[in-house]
Amino acid sequence: MKIRDIRTTPLLCHFKNDYHWADGVTLSSPIVLIEIETEDGVIGIAESGVGPTIEPMLAILRDAIPHFIGKSVYDTNKLIWDYFMTGFKARGMGSQYRMFSRTMSGIELAAWDAIGRATGQPVCNVLGGAVRDEVGYFGFVQGDTPNELRSHAEELVKEGYPVLYVKVGRGNDLDLAIVKAVREAAPHVRLRLDANEAWDTLQAITMMKRLKPFDIEIMEQPIPGTTGPDGFRRLQGAGMPMAADQSVYLPEEVFALCSSHAVQSIVLGLHETCGALRWRQAAGIAAAANVRINIHGIFETGITTCMANQVGATVSNLDDANQIMWQLLAEDLIQSPSLKPSRGFLPVSRKPGYGFELNWDAVNRAHEKYRQRQAWVPAL
Ligand SMILES: [Mg+2]
Repeated sequence: MKIRDIRTTPLLCHFKNDYHWADGVTLSSPIVLIEIETEDGVIGIAESGVGPTIEPMLAILRDAIPHFIGKSVYDTNKLIWDYFMTGFKARGMGSQYRMFSRTMSGIELAAWDAIGRATGQPVCNVLGGAVRDEVGYFGFVQGDTPNELRSHAEELVKEGYPVLYVKVGRGNDLDLAIVKAVREAAPHVRLRLDANEAWDTLQAITMMKRLKPFDIEIMEQPIPGTTGPDGFRRLQGAGMPMAADQSVYLPEEVFALCSSHAVQSIVLGLHETCGALRWRQAAGIAAAANVRINIHGIFETGITTCMANQVGATVSNLDDANQIMWQLLAEDLIQSPSLKPSRGFLPVSRKPGYGFELNWDAVNRAHEKYRQRQAWVPAL
């Protein structure tokens, strides 16, 4: 099954509301839609994560794609890492795993969709089979002010989410007011916080002690990812379970974090590992340490929700409250199936590939927004 063409379409998908987190405000999800077409006419679809802007990612993809044309779709992973050697390492970019992975993940993931659609099997079967029939997601509380976040938390509780997740790292007093408001609105749910690297060691210990009375299940990435496993070890005295997110992209980093005994969860997305195979490697390393792996969401659409649902369903140590982001968009790209969780869970699709149908009108509108160079982040 040879690859005839790989098409890239840059898209800008606006959020319904401004997205507030420790790094500021974000307005849109920029992605590159990837379509792999085989000589048999099968089309596999995925998306690449993008950052810091779309253009460098597109340029790398355009440089890489000729290496794949005429080759077997079953050789995609080998071809990706061959290109890493010739296109990155041999050009003096050996340490740029993170940008490489986010850029090339769409090709790896589109290949699985093509294989699934060609064989009539869901991607979870192609990867060896699902170990669960549904995947769990947390209710992602949105808003700027404590009152806005309180109102949304009340809605999510009514929808039956057993776990809520809130961004902090926006200022100590504001953080405390936000967590107090959400906890009042949701007294009986499991509550997780994510500080997105905002705190130094002393501030993290101080804040975790002040937040402890609110019964926090997990504090995610309180300190900069560059502090590595040692950074988490220094926080153990605060007595709160922790998850690593920005500290970990590579399977080797999962090994180092798990060996540190300082984190109880690894938060990792398919784009960060350059696709499904390395994500499952990472999950296996975490499983060996009896540590959960949590599907990370970053600026993305329902395409990534469908992909992560299929891949996540195949590992035993998947968390029961993973992250999705499509619901923040003013218009998602998925026509079917419905991606709205029921009481926090989505079924694992048994349709071929990732099992989705795209809304091509929505894709065209998102491409037009990219062409108009509409804003991704507010003006400086
Ligand atoms: Mg995070």
